[in-house]
Amino acid sequence: MRIGIIGAGQLGQMLGFAARELGDRCTFVDPSRSPPAAAAGDVLQAAFDNSAALARLAAECDVVSYEFENVPVDALLEIANQVPVYPPPAALRHAQDRLAEKRLFEGLDIPLPAYKAIDSLADLENAVADIGLPLVIKTRRLGYDGKGQAVLRESEQAAAVLEQLGPVDLIAEQWVSFDFEVSAIGARSVAGDVVVYPLTENRHADGILRESRAPVDQPALATLAEDYMSRLLHQLDYVGVLALELFVVGDRLLANEFAPRVHNSGHWTIEGVAASQFRNHILAVTGRKLEPPTLHGHAGMLNLIGEMPPVGNLPGGGQLHDYGKDPRPGRKLGHITVVADSAIERDRQLAEIVDFVTNSTRNQGPAT
Ligand code: AMP
Repeated sequence: MRIGIIGAGQLGQMLGFAARELGDRCTFVDPSRSPPAAAAGDVLQAAFDNSAALARLAAECDVVSYEFENVPVDALLEIANQVPVYPPPAALRHAQDRLAEKRLFEGLDIPLPAYKAIDSLADLENAVADIGLPLVIKTRRLGYDGKGQAVLRESEQAAAVLEQLGPVDLIAEQWVSFDFEVSAIGARSVAGDVVVYPLTENRHADGILRESRAPVDQPALATLAEDYMSRLLHQLDYVGVLALELFVVGDRLLANEFAPRVHNSGHWTIEGVAASQFRNHILAVTGRKLEPPTLHGHAGMLNLIGEMPPVGNLPGGGQLHDYGKDPRPGRKLGHITVVADSAIERDRQLAEIVDFVTNSTRNQGPAT
């Protein structure tokens, strides 16, 4: 099958490799000159919403998908009457607007932090009164990796925070002092079958995902996450992989956001399970049967941010993925995965790799 993918970053690259393994071919659309996915398929160099490029994708491909959340929904709708577009553009529309996303969670009885839409200083003052401080203020649209966010700790700072993030539609959210963060990754086929990957614990630094570990050894939480994931997938009549990010507070899960695409917190599934998130995404969008995410062990993943370590000396056990990107502070350049027989051994191997990477690079911190 021929699969068109909008976006040709590392997610596209890993989708392209999975497609090749299945005997499929990917054509990507991306404005960059030599994007990571060029290693895994053809690239049409054009803006994500370039009508001519999308028309070509629609004409030449059996299905169109995307690996990037800020694709204009209208551009997808333009081709959706010519070729199946998965995940459904309506899911993307929800994910692009934090207010719509939160209303969707509420409608599905998925618990979430208290929030309010903010259009003015008076709205923010009301949010402080109703929800309390601190508040996390986020732009409703186009935020990623913690960008477009600020924490309001004192009510006197309200005007300054609005100034910093505005003038755009905002949302104020209760600050959650969570125990830890997790993501649930699930896939749904055209026929409506669902698979959910083992729950993953995620650690962020400065809003960017740094480490993931799976499976989280808390069956009750995993069952809850699976339930929330299934509700979302069915409600959206979803096809493909979806990632749901959640805060763990005691025995509760609070939904933070979802991504209608393969997700960084699921990179460990390449080595960690029999059928990776990339494979199941390709199987789903091409109308095939999903494969079970049978675990190979306890997995851990470290993102390589800003600078690649000297790969020849990597401590044993780690599987390196180099996206082939130019180094830049704060940029995701690759990742390393370990899979071990026990959580203790996985943590030991990951700690060794974290030490090695931290000691051999300078730029693993946030963008400067
Ligand atoms: P987001 O862009 O919404 O995924 O936020 C990026 C990161 O900021 C999350 O992974 C959390 O670590 C943190 N964060 C976001 N929202 C909240 C919140 N309401 N309370 C506490 N931490 C948050």
